[in-house]
Amino acid sequence: MALQPDRNPVRPRCVREHLGYLNGGFHRIIDALEKSIGESGGMIRKREPLTSILRNGDTWVVNNTAFDAVISTIPPQELQKAGGPVMPPVPYQGAACVTVALDRDVSKGIYWLNMKDSAPYGAVVSHTNFIPVNRYGDHLVYLASYFTAKVPAHIDKVMIDDFCTRFSITPAEIRWHRLAVDPFAGPVYTTGYKSLIIPYRQQGLFMAGMFSPANYPERSMEGSVRAGKEVAACISRGDPVISPEITAIIPLFNDRPSLEIALKSSLETLSGITSEFEILVAEDGSTDGSTEFVRQYETRDSRVRLLHHDERQGRAGH
Ligand SMILES: Cc1cc2nc3c(=O)[nH]c(=O)nc-3n(C[C@H](O)[C@H](O)[C@H](O)COP(=O)(O)OP(=O)(O)OC[C@H]3O[C@@H](n4cnc5c(N)ncnc54)[C@H](O)[C@@H]3O)c2cc1C
Repeated sequence: MALQPDRNPVRPRCVREHLGYLNGGFHRIIDALEKSIGESGGMIRKREPLTSILRNGDTWVVNNTAFDAVISTIPPQELQKAGGPVMPPVPYQGAACVTVALDRDVSKGIYWLNMKDSAPYGAVVSHTNFIPVNRYGDHLVYLASYFTAKVPAHIDKVMIDDFCTRFSITPAEIRWHRLAVDPFAGPVYTTGYKSLIIPYRQQGLFMAGMFSPANYPERSMEGSVRAGKEVAACISRGDPVISPEITAIIPLFNDRPSLEIALKSSLETLSGITSEFEILVAEDGSTDGSTEFVRQYETRDSRVRLLHHDERQGRAGH
């Protein structure tokens, strides 16, 4: 679900971004996914974290079970800790979020407040100013903060104390609160980050998640879903899991005629050098149908992949 404002009003309405909330929360998606996987003969093993992963020829054995193909969606450093492939470290930040239940609205009807002042949280999200309070019985506010390395001590108390002072709330007004901490909430886009983006094929397994090409330059649930779909397409097409020997990059903006020539000649030239190559079309917000052309090409030829920007980033974007 895209929570960003609609930054591209020229796009057709059906593909613009809208603020939304899934009734019943994400459990609804997970439950539906589990049902659908079960009906297709598969299963989700719950409460069974990855504890070991060992290389076995071209694939990997996970928690002592061998699989035809493995897709990892967990942070690369966690995968590596369990015995997975060694990769350059993707810098991550953690998130600490506190949900607070109150008996009144404390943000005067406002849904989302970003903190400009120095505060132990970056956003105050009054969920029940978006979704009716009668669904919950309490006014719910969500305080979001990020941290690097280690979660600060007593972060929930620090956040709540500040929140009470700043919003004139007495501690007795807080009915309950809950803290959620994720040490790997998302990659941090440092200078040179592009060289750390993890390709879908990685040393005999597939990887899709926050660290994938689809999540750059913007991290989102959509990006991870797209990464998952692209990896699933690689597996359905029978792409080799071993990383290619050569990656050729074609930068592109609104030049479909040249693109066709560049793709054809790159395919011919690279095929003469090795069978293990890929062509990455780094497309920068084209509006002349180039994106759709590459997407179609991708479905026919697994060696061609699209790196797409919805909005033009310019040379620095590549
Ligand atoms: C505060 C906050 C607000 C956000 N708001 C938005 C928003 O409004 N819109 C939006 O689109 N995106 C938003 N995001 C980003 C969004 O949450 C992520 O893009 C999305 O969750 C990424 O999905 P993923 O599956 O790639 O990674 P994750 O959701 O991080 O999933 C990785 C999973 O791997 C699990 N894991 C780790 N180690 C192991 C192991 N050893 N064994 C088994 N499992 C393991 C973790 O527990 C985790 O559940 C937000 C993120 C944060 C932190």
